[in-house]
Amino acid sequence: MEYWLRELEGKQAHDPLMIEKMRGSERCVWVPGAVIVGAGPSGLATAAHLKEKGVPSLILERSNCIASLWQLKTYDRLHLHLPKQFCELPLMGFPSDFPKYPTKQQFVDYLESYARRFDIRPRFGETVRRAEFDHTLGFWRVRSSGKKELVTEFVCRWLIVATGENAEAVVPNIEGMGEFAGTIKHTSFYKSGEEFRGKRVLVVGCGNSGMEVCLDLCNHNATPSLVVRDTVHILPREMLGKSTFGLSMWLLKWFPIRFVDRFLLIVSWLMLGDTARFGLDRPRLGPLQLKNLSGKTPVLDVGTLAKIKSGHIKVRPGIKRLKRYTVEFVDGRTENFDAIILATGYKSNVPYWLKEEDMFSKEDGFPTKPFPNGWKGENGLYAVGFTKRGLMGTSLDARRIAEDIERCWKAEAKHSTAFSLSLNVPQSNS
Ligand SMILES: Cc1cc2nc3c(=O)[nH]c(=O)nc-3n(C[C@H](O)[C@H](O)[C@H](O)COP(=O)(O)OP(=O)(O)OC[C@H]3O[C@@H](n4cnc5c(N)ncnc54)[C@H](O)[C@@H]3O)c2cc1C
Repeated sequence: MEYWLRELEGKQAHDPLMIEKMRGSERCVWVPGAVIVGAGPSGLATAAHLKEKGVPSLILERSNCIASLWQLKTYDRLHLHLPKQFCELPLMGFPSDFPKYPTKQQFVDYLESYARRFDIRPRFGETVRRAEFDHTLGFWRVRSSGKKELVTEFVCRWLIVATGENAEAVVPNIEGMGEFAGTIKHTSFYKSGEEFRGKRVLVVGCGNSGMEVCLDLCNHNATPSLVVRDTVHILPREMLGKSTFGLSMWLLKWFPIRFVDRFLLIVSWLMLGDTARFGLDRPRLGPLQLKNLSGKTPVLDVGTLAKIKSGHIKVRPGIKRLKRYTVEFVDGRTENFDAIILATGYKSNVPYWLKEEDMFSKEDGFPTKPFPNGWKGENGLYAVGFTKRGLMGTSLDARRIAEDIERCWKAEAKHSTAFSLSLNVPQSNS
């Protein structure tokens, strides 16, 4: 710490508490509180909680806006999949005139006003490439590259990982991909079915995104087919006049998970029929048990199933290989397509940049301790938004992290006040 204060005495950053100094071609920034990596909902929620407790923080964000997943990588027709009361960030609710399932733009507007309300100003265009704890200093060194590849090292006491479960697109390696003459794009680049009007489009992956993209393509007069390689639980988005998610949460308060699963499957069968008849086999485990064990989210149907039943969307098995305009499936059938949309999901990028041994798995980049214990690691390291429970998990993590850091912040403040008084150093008012 003293070394840094000596090294960094010099130019002040835009935050009066931060000290910023050039060291050769690199910049060094001393951050007096926490560094948060990622300005998505999780990073914002944690920064807001910290602010409320009087602990300063700095968010580093690789893109040029907050909530980049929502603003830059999602399709136009997207609404929150879950009812709004399960997606609010802490300390500030949604506006009362928002619909039950807010649109993506409404959600982004809400996040923008959230950032304004708590005066959260992330440092944009900073991609964190490496972060490691310096045992000699007792601080985290976080290296990022920014505009014009300028490297900055941020030094801080607490590091909060908020880079999300969906940081990088997963693109499968399909044989013949380079040969295919049509468009191939991941859903993170898909905006609307407009550009596929009149085209034959193969959508790979039958999660919520793949199903909804198929529906969107139908609505724009494209001809979609859906590759379904795995079993999948499809549930109606609403049942008995309530959101399926809300109803499940309520039932879980009173009944065991197996009972609730059985209930969900019976009502789904009554409302949707036997999905296996249309090539959509259900897993052996119930939807909530499966979610708990593997994190696999059931699909909440918003109208795609009706299009599958009516034959507007065809269900196909796995792909064997691609040729110029042809797709060969594992059952031997071949068909021509103009485009392929990969709804093949996302992965965490934590193992690429965080250098530590225990908290995060090297394989999947998620905390190794299961929910609800994955939020805290060693040496002031925290994780927010890796619970596989969407924004509800985020709120819980953010609160715990802020409470934990506040305790250390107050204890250290007391310690340094006592130390300064013993040296007869005048105290600042900030
Ligand atoms: C299509 C879709 C619909 C969804 N609908 C819902 C829903 O209805 N309800 C719900 O609860 N959840 C939903 N989710 C899940 C949703 O992703 C999360 O709930 C929410 O966005 C998680 O926020 P986050 O801040 O943890 O991660 P993100 O929103 O992914 O934010 C992470 C941020 O970190 C930044 N970042 C990553 N790596 C670095 C780096 N190395 N350096 C600097 N910055 C970095 C990213 O650019 C990004 O801005 C949905 C997800 C998708 C894809």
